[in-house]
Amino acid sequence: MTEPRVGIYPGTFDPITNGHSDIIRRAARLVDRLVIGVARNDGKGPLFPTEERVEIVRDEVAHLENGDAERIEVRPFDSLLMHFAQSVGAKVIIRGLRAVSDFEYEFQMANMNAQLNPEIEIVFLMASDRYQFISSRFVKEIGALGGDVSHFVSPRVAARLLARFASPRSKPRRRAVAAE
Ligand code: ADP
Repeated sequence: MTEPRVGIYPGTFDPITNGHSDIIRRAARLVDRLVIGVARNDGKGPLFPTEERVEIVRDEVAHLENGDAERIEVRPFDSLLMHFAQSVGAKVIIRGLRAVSDFEYEFQMANMNAQLNPEIEIVFLMASDRYQFISSRFVKEIGALGGDVSHFVSPRVAARLLARFASPRSKPRRRAVAAE
C-alpha cells in the first residue's frame, strides 16, 4: 500500500478569510491528509491569539461541504516551517498566491525552504478570482473601521471580528485602509 500523501498549508490566518478557505478546499483535493499549520507569529502582532486563530480555522474546516473535514487537521506551530513539515510527515507544502503581490516574498521563502529540505515540494495554488484579492490585513482594517466584511469572510469570522473590535482592548493598529 502506498503511503498517504500528507500536505501542510501554513499561515498566520489572522483571521481565516474566504481566500484561505478556497485554498484549503483546493489543497484537500491534492493530498490524502492536510495539516493546516497556524503560525504563532507573535512578531506580526496578530489580532487574534494563536489559540483563537486555531479555533476559528477548526470551525471553518468543520463547515466545509463534501466531507473533506475528516482529512484535515488544524495545529498551531512555532517552529521552523520545515521542521514542522517533517514532524507531521508532510511531503508537500501548500501556499496561496495572489496576483503578483505575493510573488517576491513567496519566491524567496520557497527557495530558502528548498535549501533547508529539498525532499519537500512547495506547491502554489491560486484562489478563484472572486477571492484572489482578499487579505486578512485589509479585512482587519475594514472591520476596525466598522465596515462590512461579509464578502470576505464567513459569517462566523465576521462575528468574531465584530466582537473583537467591540472590546475596548482592541485598538485598530492602522487608521485607514491605505496602500503600503
Ligand atoms: P502568512 O503570514 O504566512 O503570509 P497568511 O495567513 O497571510 O499567512 O497566508 C497564508 C497563505 O495563504 C499564504 O501563502 C498567502 O499567500 C495565502 N493567501 C492568503 N489570502 C489568499 C487569497 N485571497 N488567495 C490566495 N492565497 C491567499
